Amino acid sequence: MLEPLPRQVLATIPAYRPGRPASDESRKLSSNENPFPPLPGVVERAAAELGRMNRYPDPGVTVLGEALAARTGLSPDHFAFGTGSVSVLFALLDAWCGPGDEVVYPWRSFEAYPIAVDLPGATSVRVPLAADHRHDLPAMADAITERTKVVLVCTPNNPTGPVVAAADFDAFMERVPASVLVVVDEAYLEFVRDPAALSGAEALARYANVVVLRTFSKAYGLAGLRVGYSMARPEITEAIRKALPPFGVSDVAQAAALASLDADAELTERVDAIVSERERVLAALRDQGWDVPDSHANFVWLPLGERSTEFAEHVWPLSVRPFPEGVRVTIATPEINDAFLDRAASFAR
Ligand SMILES: *Cc1c(COP(=O)(O)O)cnc(C)c1O
Repeated sequence: MLEPLPRQVLATIPAYRPGRPASDESRKLSSNENPFPPLPGVVERAAAELGRMNRYPDPGVTVLGEALAARTGLSPDHFAFGTGSVSVLFALLDAWCGPGDEVVYPWRSFEAYPIAVDLPGATSVRVPLAADHRHDLPAMADAITERTKVVLVCTPNNPTGPVVAAADFDAFMERVPASVLVVVDEAYLEFVRDPAALSGAEALARYANVVVLRTFSKAYGLAGLRVGYSMARPEITEAIRKALPPFGVSDVAQAAALASLDADAELTERVDAIVSERERVLAALRDQGWDVPDSHANFVWLPLGERSTEFAEHVWPLSVRPFPEGVRVTIATPEINDAFLDRAASFAR
């Protein structure tokens, strides 16, 4: 029978299957969402845009771009915005890669990477993490060939938590050809407390082939509105913008992101609260005998291997995220974190 068939590559891309839904949202520790409501003033300023939904949004994301430019000292032509930084990454890979091209990235890392690489027909070159759950940067440099177009660096790494050190990144960059684009995904930047950590902004100032990805989904708590962006040289930014779907970021989302930038003091307070909970949870897990890596994000990693699914079932009705190598648990409110620690303590090891 004749039927319209999508490209073969689609058969290798997993359909999105939502995890078992948490019985209530406060128990959802599976998506690295922010447990706090939107920052003060955000709902009001976003709502003020709703009456104009008969109009297309500003495609240039002008005011938000100017605000971020002022904060970073870069000009607005360094910023490309999308519906989450994931969509900016998809556009970037679309713009840089096709069949036969290779993209090097660490693994286990962010679930969206293989899909974003495979969709334009490029080849995923996955480099296993080192034993300490960090990027193996020397092995990633070894994996670069003349077919490599892009390298993805995730710091802190989702789902394991450690950062890439600036010194290690510099040593890595010495081995990366200037023609290879290096993406530094900083989705969890605001939660980093390691002074030796790589700074995407500094890397961008130093290397012409670096692209930094950032998002309003995590620390800023705007996951539901979908705003993320890249920072890169204007030539690179222009190519990414061409590959992005037009009018992606609604004016509601643009206004919410701008209002969030205006709530700096409250943002710092909330991020500090999550960081201090993260450190408390890590210490408590270690007291229980768990071997957990340091995390500089809003989640912790339990390297449980084959027992990951069993653990996820054990902690239910808390909803956590099992992978073949371990379980990722998002830091939530103190009460929910305590409930998680209780369940972790009673898991037979
Ligand atoms: C959450 C996340 C993102 C961004 O997600 P968006 O909601 O699309 O902005 C990007 N990279 C990593 C590693 C993440 O965990």
